[in-house]
Amino acid sequence: MTFKVTVQPAERSFDVARDEAILPAAIRQGIGLPYGCKDGACGTCKSRLLEGRVIHGAHQHKALSVEEEDAGFILTCCATPQTDVVIESRQVSALGQFPVQKMPCRVAGIEKVAPDVAVVKLQLPANVVLQYYAGQYIEFILRDGSRRSYSMANAPHLAQGGLELHIRHMPGGKFTDHVFGAMKEKEILRMEGPFGSFYLRDESDKPLVLLASGTGFAPIKALIEHMQHKAISRPAVLYWGCRSQADLYLHAWAEKAAAEMPNLTYVPVLSEPRPEDGWQGRTGLVHQAVMADLPDLSGHQVYACGAPIMVESAHKDFVAKCGLPDEEFYADSFTSEADKHGD
Ligand SMILES: Cc1cc2nc3c(=O)[nH]c(=O)nc-3n(C[C@H](O)[C@H](O)[C@H](O)COP(=O)(O)OP(=O)(O)OC[C@H]3O[C@@H](n4cnc5c(N)ncnc54)[C@H](O)[C@@H]3O)c2cc1C
Repeated sequence: MTFKVTVQPAERSFDVARDEAILPAAIRQGIGLPYGCKDGACGTCKSRLLEGRVIHGAHQHKALSVEEEDAGFILTCCATPQTDVVIESRQVSALGQFPVQKMPCRVAGIEKVAPDVAVVKLQLPANVVLQYYAGQYIEFILRDGSRRSYSMANAPHLAQGGLELHIRHMPGGKFTDHVFGAMKEKEILRMEGPFGSFYLRDESDKPLVLLASGTGFAPIKALIEHMQHKAISRPAVLYWGCRSQADLYLHAWAEKAAAEMPNLTYVPVLSEPRPEDGWQGRTGLVHQAVMADLPDLSGHQVYACGAPIMVESAHKDFVAKCGLPDEEFYADSFTSEADKHGD
């Protein structure tokens, strides 16, 4: 038995199996609904239920509050239809989705580029072509079946030599303790992808705010490489927030990109500059730097990626205080086990 899901205003329909949540069915059938963690923790897939009934499923209350549930919102990643349903999702993408594939990959390089950040290069099997949009992510499937997500830091046209990931160490973390401990070159991992709805909406010509905290820079770097490759000339400002100068692990890369692209401006922002940094640049919270420079975001499109607290604050404040239309905020929130169990 299946139920029909219709997405408005795009008028796209697809089937959901009994006891299946809306999002996995959409991914399976190549429907470009917005999403991030796929696990009820980030809220990126929040949509309005216009008709029909769902069971909400387990989720974090910061991703979908009781008040939002009462107001008719659902998280498509964990909402299971009980009838045919109609949902509103303004970010549904007209782009076709690339096939999701499982494959082994080999660690081709691990370079520590900051005290707690490693650039990891992955080599894919020779017979596999992984197609993806700049900004998307892959998941590693760990031995116990649990999964960890990492965004591709290189645009697809630069990925023939392999994928580049930027991985931050979370002490006590199942996967990143391994990356910063025993992981060696040539190690074989299992991965699946591409996933995610964090990619550039090419159909818009609005000026862009590209907002990153920490390793949230990874997919933003891929977006910038994509823009450069496709000669996309929309004005764009890159805000990259880190604690201290040592954490801006690709500062020189970002400066070079801004020098090469007349439409790109780069604003690094440090929240805890150290005296020895001799930092002359911007300080404070990175999303507040955006608000100070661009108090009116009503004509912008924002791509934000990184720590959940930064993404949540930017979303809330940009919409409430700077007039950003809600549907022009695209984000990947780097939720971890701590966020999934912390409510
Ligand atoms: C769409 C997406 C893209 C991402 N892209 C990137 C990326 O490009 N780069 C990047 O660095 N990260 C990225 N992340 C985050 C990444 O997927 C991992 O969550 C992160 O690396 C931590 O993984 P881990 O296994 O080391 O830690 P985990 O095992 O997930 O633990 C994380 C922290 O939570 C604590 N913890 C574990 N279990 C619990 C529990 N039950 N209760 C409370 N606390 C707990 C651990 O001690 C640790 O400090 C992304 C996340 C998402 C959702």
